[in-house]
Amino acid sequence: MSGELKSITTFSEPQPVMHCEHGLCAELYTSWETDNPGRRFWRCQMWQRGDCGFFQWFDPEIVGRPKELINRLRSQKKALENRLKSQEAEHRVISTRACELEQKLIDANAKIKSLSIMNDVLTEKLKVVTDEPAKSDNHMLELEEE
Ligand SMILES: [Zn+2]
Repeated sequence: MSGELKSITTFSEPQPVMHCEHGLCAELYTSWETDNPGRRFWRCQMWQRGDCGFFQWFDPEIVGRPKELINRLRSQKKALENRLKSQEAEHRVISTRACELEQKLIDANAKIKSLSIMNDVLTEKLKVVTDEPAKSDNHMLELEEE
């Protein structure tokens, strides 16, 4: 029991300062290799350009089920990130399509409006044309009634 508590407090304890062969402060990195997932280590801060070769593990080796679980969770995380990426790409395609359709709808509404105005004008003209003989028909009826 006390061992568990101790390992939890180790994480918040100040880390000792380590110096590499250059005499520089070594930096703490985290390994994500499947052999040492989440295990921290010190390394020369110049490791990408003139590494002095200094390397020392900070965390004890992770073995058994915790190692399996960390690796499984990491691969699940990667799979979810990939799924998210493809869904984001799909979302971008759908958004673009939605924008195009919205523009088409605006254009179609403008066409409907102009056709409706044209329809009103033509209906008015048709009324004038059809009303004239109708008036004369009415006139004839009126005459017949007399
Ligand atoms: Zn160094």
